[in-house]
Amino acid sequence: MSTKIGADSNRQPVDASIDDQNHFSARRELIVSFLWLFVPVSILLTAIFYLFSSQTQKYELQTAMIREESALNNASQLTSLIFVQKLSDLFVLAEGEVLRNYLHDESLKNWVSVTREFSLFARRKPKYMQIRYLNNQGMEIVRINNGTDEPEIVPRFELQNKQNRYYFKEAVQLDQGAIYISPLDLNVEKGVIEQPIKPTIRFATPVVDGYGETRGVLIINYDPNEILQRIEEIFTNLVGQGVMLNRDGYWLLGKPEAQLWGFMYGREETFHRQRPDVWSAVESMDRGSFYSGEGLFVFQKTYPLDLTRQGTLENIEYLNKPELHQLGKRYWIYLSHISQSKLEELTLKRLVVATVAYLLLFIVSGMISLFFARNAVQKKLAFRKLEQFAATDALTGLANRRELATAGKREFLRAQRFSRELSVLMLDLDHFKLINDTHTHTVGDKVLRHVVELVNNVIRGQDILVRYGGEEFLILLPETDAKGALFLASYICKRVADEAYEGKQSVVPVTVSIGVSTIGDGDRSYQDLVVKADLALYQAKRTGRNKVVVYDETMAHIKQPE
Ligand code: GH3
Ligand code: MG
Ligand code: MG
Repeated sequence: MSTKIGADSNRQPVDASIDDQNHFSARRELIVSFLWLFVPVSILLTAIFYLFSSQTQKYELQTAMIREESALNNASQLTSLIFVQKLSDLFVLAEGEVLRNYLHDESLKNWVSVTREFSLFARRKPKYMQIRYLNNQGMEIVRINNGTDEPEIVPRFELQNKQNRYYFKEAVQLDQGAIYISPLDLNVEKGVIEQPIKPTIRFATPVVDGYGETRGVLIINYDPNEILQRIEEIFTNLVGQGVMLNRDGYWLLGKPEAQLWGFMYGREETFHRQRPDVWSAVESMDRGSFYSGEGLFVFQKTYPLDLTRQGTLENIEYLNKPELHQLGKRYWIYLSHISQSKLEELTLKRLVVATVAYLLLFIVSGMISLFFARNAVQKKLAFRKLEQFAATDALTGLANRRELATAGKREFLRAQRFSRELSVLMLDLDHFKLINDTHTHTVGDKVLRHVVELVNNVIRGQDILVRYGGEEFLILLPETDAKGALFLASYICKRVADEAYEGKQSVVPVTVSIGVSTIGDGDRSYQDLVVKADLALYQAKRTGRNKVVVYDETMAHIKQPE
């Protein structure tokens, strides 16, 4: 550093040079230390933001899924609950005393009793659209039509044979206590779908006499609108779009009228055909979810008697025996579809908040980083300036004696360790006091600088020029033997003598005397070299000035005046 300062400073005014350098490196250092602070912070922020946003998406997806699952589960439980109530009614009638009596004695009196009991029952259960007892041959024996008004007892001559209807065929072959549940479909009267549509479901169970013989079938036609309405209510609370499907993928709820009950009208369009990918998931699981680019599908199958699995109805013995009813056969599907855009809408709000927070933090951390960086750089610069001032001489910009100690030690050690040459020149202006006295101190200063400039231009980059005292300079010459040092000293001496200082008002001739010393075996430190050069300089002064004297052993004993 000292070399650099020595070499550069002669070309520009000293203080300006330091300031300019500082200014330039300050800007660079500010940028560097700002980046050092800000880059890690912003990487961290970005990572946190990224993590948060991906977690948010996952979280929203999960939350939506849980909400839908629990709503669909509610729908499923409700369905089961209602169904089980109906089925216990079915058994009350099928196993009742009155019907038993009739089976034992098929008298008119007993028939009337059965009819009366069924119609009393029907009055209390307006959702049971028909209550029927059919005998073994499929002949209707008792039939109550339950409309909006009074239950209607169908007269005997109007009763029909239902031998070929699917519900009869299925139910009559079941064991005692088993249940048949028909598909949920629309009521058909005389081959035509009743309008407005009337959803219907049939429950049937075999009727068995005291001897364990199956004597016929008890059938209830149930109007499931109460279930459907409550399911629709549950659907309105879903995040997504809820639909109810039968096991063939036809819509029963949750679509425009024209798309519902497609199987009744022989339509081809099903959910199954629309979304085969989702459908295969639905078919393979009782409940689950399916996520694709088109959003989230959550589904749950509902088995009409599912409550038995939850132990809610242990008192109904037959429900605990799956082999007695067709539990596995009949099911419906509740399904919710949350579209991709809906999912995005859910996450958007959080993401917007997160993004704003992120940007604010980004800016704030940028400002904080800048603040700290500026602080650090200012401290560093102030310290460096101090260092520079401490190490350099204000008038000439040269390194001072403190710097000489460092450089001198370093160069001496190196020369000694690697057996290299090292020389020292000690230079002193001749009769400088006189110059000051003649031309003022200010001019004296200028003359000093003039000499420094001359010397600086002559020495090499690695040479170290130090202001040693008032008008005394020392030059450390690494890799320079006595011959080289003498040559340089003589050249300096001549140049100074030749090039007088030319000020605005006056020309001031100036000369220098130089003492030369070179490293020898006896030298213990750079200071030994300095002492020797000083002795040589003294000799030069003594013998006429404006000259160069190389140290030799004889000078060791010359006593300098204090
Ligand atoms: P000699 O040839 O024996 O060296 O004579 P000299 O007059 O140069 O020596 P002396 O040691 O008697 O005087 C040195 C003078 O240098 C004394 C001092 O006022 C002057 N001087 C020292 N530092 C500065 C400086 O920074 N600026 C100016 N203008 N003069 C200085
Ligand atoms: Mg002098
Ligand atoms: Mg002097």
